Amino acid sequence: MPDFKKILNTLYEETKQLSDTGKVATYIPELASISPNKFGICLLDIEKESYQVGNFDECFSVQSISKVLTLAMAMGIVGEKVWDRVDVEPSGDPFNHLSLLEQENGIPRNPLINAGAIVIADILVSELKDPKKEFLDFVHKISGDSTIRYDEKVAQSEKATGFKNYAAANLLKSYGNLKNDVIEVLDFYFYQCSLSMSCAQLCHTFYLFINRGRCMQNLEFLTVSQVKRINALMLTCGFYDEAGEFAFEVGLPGKSGVGGGIVALLPKRFCVTVWSPGLNLKGNSSRGMAALERLTTLSDLSIF
Ligand code: GLU
Repeated sequence: MPDFKKILNTLYEETKQLSDTGKVATYIPELASISPNKFGICLLDIEKESYQVGNFDECFSVQSISKVLTLAMAMGIVGEKVWDRVDVEPSGDPFNHLSLLEQENGIPRNPLINAGAIVIADILVSELKDPKKEFLDFVHKISGDSTIRYDEKVAQSEKATGFKNYAAANLLKSYGNLKNDVIEVLDFYFYQCSLSMSCAQLCHTFYLFINRGRCMQNLEFLTVSQVKRINALMLTCGFYDEAGEFAFEVGLPGKSGVGGGIVALLPKRFCVTVWSPGLNLKGNSSRGMAALERLTTLSDLSIF
């Protein structure tokens, strides 16, 4: 293994200096108040050794990173039936774009864009008695950390302003690809996005994606094949309409969120989380992408 401690310190100092670190998301009002200077990194290797720097222990809004976790939970429950209702192609469009949904008769391009994640939320609402509680229990189990919580304020803020998500859910409903009530499904969706987690907690949670479906406690949650598929989706669809650029610059599967977090991983080697709230024009953490580019360059580790 490379000297991750040294590499993280080097890249942290380098990328802390960057002059253009993007803009904090404001379309969810509650996210607008976060300081753009927050910057943390945690890396957890397959041997469970971890390395940290900066604000790695401070909780932030994971937003779309939660889409990987709801997908994992849904695949664990209904298996490959998920693919009857959502496709596995990159969209090349922003996360909340609606035009493709119309062109493709209500089948979202993939489960990591909003429309796809809303279909996954609908599956969980159908399958679970108390989806909010059971999803949080699932996150507690895979992370081994029962302190993880939803951020009520963020959930309510998005509920009051998430008009595009109401539009997407209604469109899905009109095509027959939403079985439950729009408001009920979106209530769950807004809560999943409001999960509040630190870089360290996200690394613990995503360990199962580097460990062939087994969590930190060695319990099996997904099959090897399911993990491979989810990792493939993270590579091709994990960064809005910038998945190509992320593969080009960084070369790892991963998922970003508009809270400024990015989780990326190299199967069987390590997972890493970076948090820096300033976003680039495509909605990905600006400094986060730069830091991960330095990580794969300095360590000479990527899937390529
Ligand atoms: N909750 C956000 C939304 O649906 C998620 C955005 C994101 O992180 O991509 O707009």
